[in-house]
Amino acid sequence: MTDLHPELEPILAEVTHRNPAEPEFHQAVHEVLETLGPVVSKHPQYADAEVIRRLCEPERQIIFRVPWVDDAGQIQVNRGFRVEFSSVLGPYKGGLRFHPSVSLGTVKFLGFEQIFKNSLTGMPLGGGKGGSDFNPRGRSDAEIMRFCQSFMTELHRHLGEYTDVPAGDIGVGGRELGYLFGQYKRITNRYESGVLTGKGLTWGGSQVRTEATGFGAVYFADRMLRNAGHELEGQRVVVSGSGNVAIHAVQKAQELGAVVVAVSDSDGYVVHEDGLDLGVLKEVKIIERERLDEYARRTGAQHVSGGSVWDVPATVALPCATQNEISGTAAATMVRHGLIAVAEGANMPSTPEAVAVFRGAGVLFAPGKAANAGGVVTSSLEMQQNASRDSWTFEHTDARLRETMATIHDTCVATADEYDAPGDYVVGANIAGFTRVADAMIAFGVI
Ligand code: GLU
Repeated sequence: MTDLHPELEPILAEVTHRNPAEPEFHQAVHEVLETLGPVVSKHPQYADAEVIRRLCEPERQIIFRVPWVDDAGQIQVNRGFRVEFSSVLGPYKGGLRFHPSVSLGTVKFLGFEQIFKNSLTGMPLGGGKGGSDFNPRGRSDAEIMRFCQSFMTELHRHLGEYTDVPAGDIGVGGRELGYLFGQYKRITNRYESGVLTGKGLTWGGSQVRTEATGFGAVYFADRMLRNAGHELEGQRVVVSGSGNVAIHAVQKAQELGAVVVAVSDSDGYVVHEDGLDLGVLKEVKIIERERLDEYARRTGAQHVSGGSVWDVPATVALPCATQNEISGTAAATMVRHGLIAVAEGANMPSTPEAVAVFRGAGVLFAPGKAANAGGVVTSSLEMQQNASRDSWTFEHTDARLRETMATIHDTCVATADEYDAPGDYVVGANIAGFTRVADAMIAFGVI
């Protein structure tokens, strides 16, 4: 990491001191602050109004007990979180993550990232994030339902289509959103479609929302490659993860002519030299909720237990699993194997060491804030449809997603140029995301 601007150094020190044991939050703040030096120098009004110090403190943090009864009749207690980080540009917006690793620090890092990502979309969205340390793995449908109902029984009082609008994230997909929306509707006696996004198509959901994050990351990668004189067609792609984001990234990359040779899960990875079989992958992972060794068994692909999917040579990498999944060492291996581009489908999957390796080697690097914004973009399109009681076709919605990803890409490029960092998508995304929020904060006064 580079040195911080003297105005920003004490802010990072304060964030670190006031939020102990939240390393991912510190990392996310550091990553943004280290790119804001030129902005602070050029626009002293931001420092005068303490915009950055205010932005680093969430507007509201909610932590609650989630008691529920498992299938054996045993009472379980989990912890629920919602961090309402910034409502400067619109209602708090961001997903819910159900995973045993979820802690306040995780939710704060994700919520902080979400402020800038949502701002970068140009849409009227604030930033927030939530979730629980609940582990859905191995739980029955009935257990998932009871957990979601208990979670929403507490969370509902904080939500509203103009207040806070959650969506899914890791461990929260269509099934969970159904149970959450059903419970919200029951408690409030309101059919308030715009209070959650990622809903099912028969009850207020939007076409393309399921596919949006993965598709969007590939649209971004394609435009970034073209901008640098390459194209996605014919590239050898490795995708990490095999959840919703990863699978739809595989699908769009294949549709645009790339050869996707590997995906992973927490047990290992599969390599399919001729290209993955998307049909079998969807069947195993989405319909059957099975593991990747089952994919290998059905297709004859090679399954590697443990290990790192980043050992598989690729020219384009799409990390779509989770935070800090690419170490500096892994990044060095990837560069040695001829990597030309990375587009982050997950939130902060590259460690700071990995980002330094990519930048040093001249690899095109699209940070999650820009590359994975397609999910929240399509959530915003879902909110638009709900507000107008309309529903759009797949083609129209997909075209809106693709256009918006192109605009985000071009905004990153133009902002990086303006701040003398041509080709630096981290600088472009952070500064463009920040300035929109900062200008609105100044307009609102000290609140
Ligand atoms: N969880 C997704 C993200 O990281 C989607 C958020 C949303 O649609 O609100 O951006």
